[in-house]
Amino acid sequence: MRRVSIFGATGSIGQNTIDLIARDPEAYDVVALTGASNIEQLASDAIRLRADVAVTADETRLEDLRAALRGHDIKAAAGQAALVEAACRPSDWVMSAIVGAAGLAPGLCALKQGATLALANKESLVCAGQLILSTAKAHDARLLPVDSEHSAVFQALVGEDMAAVERIIITASGGAFRDWPLEKLARATLAEASSHPNWDMGQRITIDSASMFNKALELIETREYFGVTPDQIEVLVHPESMIHAMVGFNDGALMAHVGPPDMRHAIGYALHWPDRRGLPVDRLDLAQIGALTFRAPDERRWPALRLAREVMERGGLSGAVFNAAKETALDAFIAGEIGFPTMAEVVEEVLNDTASSHIDAPMTLDNVHAADQMARQASRDVIEQRAG
Ligand code: NAD
Ligand code: MG
Repeated sequence: MRRVSIFGATGSIGQNTIDLIARDPEAYDVVALTGASNIEQLASDAIRLRADVAVTADETRLEDLRAALRGHDIKAAAGQAALVEAACRPSDWVMSAIVGAAGLAPGLCALKQGATLALANKESLVCAGQLILSTAKAHDARLLPVDSEHSAVFQALVGEDMAAVERIIITASGGAFRDWPLEKLARATLAEASSHPNWDMGQRITIDSASMFNKALELIETREYFGVTPDQIEVLVHPESMIHAMVGFNDGALMAHVGPPDMRHAIGYALHWPDRRGLPVDRLDLAQIGALTFRAPDERRWPALRLAREVMERGGLSGAVFNAAKETALDAFIAGEIGFPTMAEVVEEVLNDTASSHIDAPMTLDNVHAADQMARQASRDVIEQRAG
């Protein structure tokens, strides 16, 4: 039996992971499941999958979790330290599907105990790519991409030599506001930004798709994961979301990965890797789909893409600053404090004003955390200035 843990089990990726695991209960020994406020979901999955431990990130909910698990031999725990403790429990395969920088510390612990880390939490690579990669290497642990684009690239590279790779193209649906007039964006509501044309995902990543902050994070993720230079990575708007990524080789060939917009494909590929096994996803009928379309991204509509390129140029801890500013600006948009286009303005201002001492500090977990906290405070200040 394979020991598996799922961090962020109650979210969109977590639930899709559980869907796959629950189809073959004899194959998996579930060690840890974690969530935050959705205690009912966390407890019922922990009971159904017979987990050893269930952890909520929210310390105020520990008693609720204990009550929900009463009568079952499952340890209940809460808080950051408990998340890290759960990640230190030996597992063979760990799904990292917490949303945001909070996924970094548990992911590092999982790597330190040598587990294969299936990484949906792209924010970890954005904040601390080199730290994640060096930790994996030092502990002989494997990192597998779960983001659909990066899984697609990973699959297109099987059996290939990286030296023959000229470029990597990641596609973007364009999100909710792809075809909106630019001047209307300032009036975009939370509900409008929270509905995705093709994918069913958590609310935060759905809004990040509309702003392309998600694609911006993915540009950085591509650079970190595949070790290519920024000018080798392109973003292509592809409204149908069927081609997830393409790899361009030195002989002019483009290897494209085509599949339905269902995250269970990328999750299942990482779960069964290096094998390919049957997965319960739709089979595409391309004759019925008829046409796939592409266009270049407009950087006036999506300034986040330009900011990601600046972050890649600057390097160091600028990814941690970028991500923290983005998370804080997103919180403010969700709370109704700022308009949709203001999110990118906040992030840009914070990036421009961050002292080099923060960016150039060595990439340790403590320094990443310090840069993250500084950027959150700086972002709050910018947001308050604008609101006031
Ligand atoms: P979600 O919001 O649906 O779920 C997030 C999970 O993290 C939940 O289990 C929640 O309880 C937990 N969580 C939230 N805040 C936490 C905190 N501070 N500490 C610990 N746990 C916390 O998010 P999602 O859409 O499933 O996305 C999860 C990750 O996967 C993100 O990094 C996202 O970018 C990435 N991703 C998601 C998709 C998708 O289709 N949803 C696709 C590609 C990548
Ligand atoms: Mg993606």
